[in-house]
Amino acid sequence: MTVAERLDTRLAALAEISAGGPGVTRPSFGALERDAHAQVAAWAAQDGARAETDPAGNTVLIYGEGEPYLLVGSHLDSVPEGGRYDGTVGVLAGMEAAASVASELELGMRVVIFSAEEGARFGRPCLGSELATGAAPDGLLDGLRDGEGRSAADVAHESGLRPEACPPWLRAPEVAAYLEVHIEQGRVLERERVRLGVVDVIAGAARLEVELGGRPEHSGTTPMDDRLDALTAAAEVVLEVERIGREARHGVATVGRLDVHPNSVTTVPGGVRLVVDVRDVDAGRQDEAAAAVRAAITRIAGARGTPVEIRELASRAPVMLSAWPRLALAQACGEERLPFRVLPSGAGHDAAVVAHTAPSALLFVPTPNGRSHTPDEACRTEDVAVACAVVARALRRLDRDARGVADPDLTTTTPEG
Ligand SMILES: [Zn+2]
Repeated sequence: MTVAERLDTRLAALAEISAGGPGVTRPSFGALERDAHAQVAAWAAQDGARAETDPAGNTVLIYGEGEPYLLVGSHLDSVPEGGRYDGTVGVLAGMEAAASVASELELGMRVVIFSAEEGARFGRPCLGSELATGAAPDGLLDGLRDGEGRSAADVAHESGLRPEACPPWLRAPEVAAYLEVHIEQGRVLERERVRLGVVDVIAGAARLEVELGGRPEHSGTTPMDDRLDALTAAAEVVLEVERIGREARHGVATVGRLDVHPNSVTTVPGGVRLVVDVRDVDAGRQDEAAAAVRAAITRIAGARGTPVEIRELASRAPVMLSAWPRLALAQACGEERLPFRVLPSGAGHDAAVVAHTAPSALLFVPTPNGRSHTPDEACRTEDVAVACAVVARALRRLDRDARGVADPDLTTTTPEG
């Protein structure tokens, strides 16, 4: 069986581990996520790898014993009705590369499957990697709730996990370097007809929750000049956020969620809660855009006499990935005679979290049509097979470097420090 054939078989098998409905639904910290981890651990056992699961539900497949070790991986949870490649491709590619090089390396070789990477269920992404690296604030999982009002901690407990007891184990020097393969979820690689992308920066995100007030009254009897309409104020905010996003050279700004109250055909809207998502690969510009959004909301609300409250839900700075593992990927592409593109990632990934405690790099494979987080998400397994070969080469190089260079570049910096 070729690597691409094995990838196809495994991707199809994992796609079956899903709640009903179109596409793949494997909610974070849920039973199906646990089933997918168990399936992958069973495949790894066939390669002679031993599996360990930490209290946060991160599964580690040990292909080569010893410390320090090289680490590759991604995640197996999904958004509701997502695709079969997001995360999965990185786990399977990591296993292929690890199995092919582990016996040649002096360093240890492990694959990690992070739990709860998708932010769709609990509003905050990368929970497994935050717990494994010690980045999660105390009590974080008690404060996060899913759409049914259940806390992330309760959901994890029901799946037999104890995330509050997870020690911070993922860090240098035990972890020499971390590599992640992921689908691009964009159109840059396809447009430029290259099969691989080496990511330099992972965009940050500032998220603002905005509450706009109004006066709910009968829509038939309240004159137009005597209304306090929260939704028309929100409409101005949405358009202003779009304008700010368009003006940001490398950034984006989105209102993806509006909750209208009472959301009735015959009532002037009395309240709107909306969430603004601002992202950039430059920390200073991201802060500027978020400040511009705040100023615009305050101005719009002031002009209309609309009561307004703005609350920061999250503020994550962009992450510059370390030069050492990035260079290893780029050199591996060169040795395989594969043209590659250096590009930023607009989406967040576990690699952005791990980069704060160990040198990390991210390799993209093309996503046809750029469509992701939908059932028709696509990916060519031949491209993933090529990525497996590149990662295997990069791991050999990192192993050589780690032994030959006394002090590899362990620095991880965000732009502007
Ligand atoms: Zn993903």
